[in-house]
Amino acid sequence: MDVLVIGAGFAGLYMLHRLRGLGFTARVLEAADGVGGTWYWNRYPGARCDSESYYYCYSFDPELEQEWRWSERYPGQEEIRGYLEHVTDRYDLRRDIELGVRVASAVREDDGWVVTDTEGRERRCRWLVTAVGCLSAANVPDLAGLADFAGEWHHTGRWPHEGVDVTGKRVGLVGTGSTGIQAVPVLAESAGSLTVFQRTANYSIPARNAPLSEAEMAATKADYPEVRRLQRASTNGHPYLVSDVDVLDLPDDERRALYEKAWDRGGLRFRAAVKDVLSDPAVNASASDFLRDKIRETVADPETAETLTPRDHPFATKRPPIDSGYFETYNRPNVALVDVKADPITSVTPGGLRLESGVEHELDVLVFATGFDALTGPLLGIDIRGRDGVALRDAWADGPRTHLGLGVAGFPDLFTITGPGSPSVLTNMPTAIEQHVDWIADLLVRLRETGEHAEPTPEAEEEWAARVQEAADATLLPQAASSWYLGANVPGKPRVFLPFAGGMNHYRQRCDDEAASGYPGFGLRPRGESARSA
Ligand code: NAP
Repeated sequence: MDVLVIGAGFAGLYMLHRLRGLGFTARVLEAADGVGGTWYWNRYPGARCDSESYYYCYSFDPELEQEWRWSERYPGQEEIRGYLEHVTDRYDLRRDIELGVRVASAVREDDGWVVTDTEGRERRCRWLVTAVGCLSAANVPDLAGLADFAGEWHHTGRWPHEGVDVTGKRVGLVGTGSTGIQAVPVLAESAGSLTVFQRTANYSIPARNAPLSEAEMAATKADYPEVRRLQRASTNGHPYLVSDVDVLDLPDDERRALYEKAWDRGGLRFRAAVKDVLSDPAVNASASDFLRDKIRETVADPETAETLTPRDHPFATKRPPIDSGYFETYNRPNVALVDVKADPITSVTPGGLRLESGVEHELDVLVFATGFDALTGPLLGIDIRGRDGVALRDAWADGPRTHLGLGVAGFPDLFTITGPGSPSVLTNMPTAIEQHVDWIADLLVRLRETGEHAEPTPEAEEEWAARVQEAADATLLPQAASSWYLGANVPGKPRVFLPFAGGMNHYRQRCDDEAASGYPGFGLRPRGESARSA
């Protein structure tokens, strides 16, 4: 094989399609029994995308854009999985995808990579591309007694395909990030009782999901060139630009009206209505207060409302969820909230969860909406060994180092789609993925022509790490101490700001400059020559 690609989600499928078109021999190895990546695994109740359907999709083929029909403003998990299945068949990708193959290790040998799966089967390639996703390594809390829990427990990112029948049962859900906030209203409808264990209170904005009419779809399809232009021009890959209104200059009633309008429209676009919300503390405080007021207005019990009110981080410094009736759910008689910051979970008992105070909550079903070992977890889950046998786990012991999130010094001819240090999770993912895939494809064409190797230089990595930190420091993002952007959700993980916060548009330009100037940060050198002698 010229190229092995690990993962058959949005990234791996498009990478395979591009490689095929360029005449490379390529195969995708996928651990799951189906394509879809994130959308294969995350089947929890309420799983739905937070980006709108008309732009949470590929842009590489106008015919695909025109023929696919989205049914709702925000596509549900099953619909996105169906879309990716359709793409797989439409471009005849399936014959080069091996399902049910979990990669255990990838070792640099001679001029290429030896990739070994968990069954011990080896495959060789000249170039290795990881398309393993940013949020695919489930983070299950290491709680004593979990193995002896008498009921059933599930992580939302590994939800059983046959579903979980919670009808009439006592359900406990741990975690109030984007996932928990989506799952709570749906679980509450059929559970006998639902107890939500909240460690950090979260802001959330109504999604305002709705069916898409034929007329809306037709209007979008007619406007796709402009949609794509806006996506490329924006900082986060969404097809709208940030408002140029200084909210603090507005009289109180006009500012309130601006927030109300953005609230009524709903979704992540709320952020774009508030200029400088992620860089100006006073602006952010004003928007955060508006969102706190909404919680008080919605939740009937004042004590519950106060517990649900975020006070320890500014709005959007942790990834903001959007919801469909989340705060309203706490007005149901079968739903209770438990503050596990005040009274932490200490163990799982056969009958439920025990807290530090000794209080025990009896449960039949335990749901961990506890997130992921983000960005680095999926890569470090594979034993990747570069030149001289150096393990990626050791190279990244103090946190990930990459050049542009695309490659790692010491690991020649390895390319990481949406790796740490790229905008990835701060953007609309398909936009970031397409940019990476196209960029990698261009570089591979050059390497095939020249016979060179590509391996980031330590200097380029150093410089990029500084840029990533600088970009984060120019925002309020590092103020959320418990954010997974910083690795803070996984015990023992180095605290390094993981994604590049300097904007997708600027990042794209930086990557284009790198290519146009001959890939100086990728230390191109003739085949067979080691990096040290280069
Ligand atoms: P998350 O944002 O990391 O939230 C995990 C939640 O679990 C947090 O409330 C966290 O509390 C809590 N938690 C973790 N360990 C805990 C423990 N030991 N005890 C008590 N609470 C614990 O994970 P997520 O909700 O799965 O979302 C991850 C990301 O996936 C999102 O930010 C988003 O980027 C993506 N996502 C997207 C969508 C979508 O587009 N529709 C949907 C879901 C997820 P702390 O905050 O205190 O750590």
